[in-house]
Amino acid sequence: MSVQVVSAAAAAAAKVPEVELKDLSPSEAEPQLGLSAAAVGAMVPPAGGGDPEAPAPAAERPPAPGPGSGPAAAAALSPAAGKVPQASAMKRSDPHHQHQRHRDGGEALVSPDGTVTEAPRTVKKIQFADQKQEFNKRPTKIGRRSLSRSISQSSTDSYSSAASYTDSSDDETSPRDKQQKNSKGSSDFCVKNIKQAEFGRREIEIAEQEMPALMALRKRAQGEKPLAGAKIVGCTHITAQTAVLMETLGALGAQCRWAACNIYSTLNEVAAALAESGFPVFAWKGESEDDFWWCIDRCVNVEGWQPNMILDDGGDLTHWIYKKYPNMFKKIKGIVEESVTGVHRLYQLSKAGKLCVPAMNVNDSVTKQKFDNLYCCRESILDGLKRTTDMMFGGKQVVVCGYGEVGKGCCAALKAMGSIVYVTEIDPICALQACMDGFRLVKLNEVIRQVDIVITCTGNKNVVTREHLDRMKNSCIVCNMGHSNTEIDVASLRTPELTWERVRSQVDHVIWPDGKRIVLLAEGRLLNLSCSTVPTFVLSITATTQALALIELYNAPEGRYKQDVYLLPKKMDEYVASLHLPTFDAHLTELTDEQAKYLGLNKNGPFKPNYYRY
Ligand code: NAD
Repeated sequence: MSVQVVSAAAAAAAKVPEVELKDLSPSEAEPQLGLSAAAVGAMVPPAGGGDPEAPAPAAERPPAPGPGSGPAAAAALSPAAGKVPQASAMKRSDPHHQHQRHRDGGEALVSPDGTVTEAPRTVKKIQFADQKQEFNKRPTKIGRRSLSRSISQSSTDSYSSAASYTDSSDDETSPRDKQQKNSKGSSDFCVKNIKQAEFGRREIEIAEQEMPALMALRKRAQGEKPLAGAKIVGCTHITAQTAVLMETLGALGAQCRWAACNIYSTLNEVAAALAESGFPVFAWKGESEDDFWWCIDRCVNVEGWQPNMILDDGGDLTHWIYKKYPNMFKKIKGIVEESVTGVHRLYQLSKAGKLCVPAMNVNDSVTKQKFDNLYCCRESILDGLKRTTDMMFGGKQVVVCGYGEVGKGCCAALKAMGSIVYVTEIDPICALQACMDGFRLVKLNEVIRQVDIVITCTGNKNVVTREHLDRMKNSCIVCNMGHSNTEIDVASLRTPELTWERVRSQVDHVIWPDGKRIVLLAEGRLLNLSCSTVPTFVLSITATTQALALIELYNAPEGRYKQDVYLLPKKMDEYVASLHLPTFDAHLTELTDEQAKYLGLNKNGPFKPNYYRY
């Protein structure tokens, strides 16, 4: 039995859509997902969010209905576009912390007037005001070589099927110094080695198996091309999963140019495969700081091509366009932002009245939050630790700083492996959750001498200070799962009395004068993305949300979205989840009419009020 979502045409004109969830016999069901094309159009939040029982708090109330009659994403994908009922995304004020957020490798400096300024990174600070000069001051070949050697001489490379292709090459020439062409003669890309394309293609094909929703969108959009004319510039981790997203966007009609949002996380062979199939990709593993901005610039500063959509993870791309090419925003229809940090930057811009296009906050979609943060980290924390250290977890004492979504995932995985887990928290609610889940809530000082592993997951800064590092026991492993590299005060370890020894790729021993050493992973950058892979299925959920957000913003009629930050409607969140259910042969229960009336719900959702926390 598969589940099919069927739009009831008769209900299309009604205020609240009638969408039936039906069990179908296999013959009735569409292959794979069993969702009809019309279903996409039907899976649309009704006007006003459709929570009859629960008016949203002011900050979350949907904006007044704008022009057009339904979410553009749905309309664009649906032949029944005209009949799609009204929807609008929720807008809300910055839900994030008061303190500044930082992204991997850099800090978002938010001035009191809300201006987001330079993001200094660990390697060196790039002056936005003087970009050309900085590009001229490129690192010497030797400088770049030593960086790439430290990355490629890795005993961990062979652990990952992806990494094994990536780093086996002895070629240490910077991609910027190479002349490469794909088989069609195009040289509009910059990757490590175009010859790795075939390996990358295999990785992409493997990822496709675990990304059912994107594959369903591709299928559904055959002939419809809801992103026809879209020129998307993207800055995300470049992995096989991103490749599936990019190729889906391409199949939906978009042109894409892409750079990496992290200097370490690019899978070179995947970047090569994308370049081979015609995507202008500018990214490689082990970019220098200077390379990072150069790659972003190559994506946007192109003759005869100007982006009209931005897909960002961390806000650097958006920031770059703001600083260097503000006029581009005249043509840009919207920004889709995935990360906590990037979203925080957008809210700051919005507050300061400086956001000049609508933006979708994908990070706070329920599906993204739960799956990307909680389940992804639950699945990948052990992998990252194991690949880098070969350690056994049973009986080890671990302290996890922060019991938010990421912390909860890490704690659950470590507990399941028999580790003794301590938690630190600043928020009494999360602290109480930790207690109820059976973890000892402590201050870091209380356990720092005894623990074998310290993991930060706060999104905050200086959670682990030099004082903590001084007091750790010999061989203590220190790592970060938060987005930024600011949680551990790594800079404080770069003092003359301490010796650094690179023992593996992404693994440093920092040695004290008395011989004590700590094991620092990924120099304090986020562990799972730097040192392991993350589950494709989880990324599928995020990528589907991103694709729908792009379609929605791109197709929205003028005026529906103002120059503000929006959340995807809850019903789209539910839709993203529903697209993934068939993978599990999951059978969703359907409300009876009587039950729906009793609960005050539409039978087809949304099923929860906006404030529901899952
Ligand atoms: P969250 O806000 O749910 O949790 C962070 C928790 O840290 C909060 O409960 C907060 O009270 C607590 N905290 C803040 N400062 C603290 C301190 N000094 N000591 C102890 N606790 C403190 O956020 P989240 O969704 O768990 O994300 C946390 C970080 O992880 C973010 O930076 C996010 O971008 C990143 N992230 C990483 C991954 C990954 O794959 N590694 C995935 C998603 C998010």
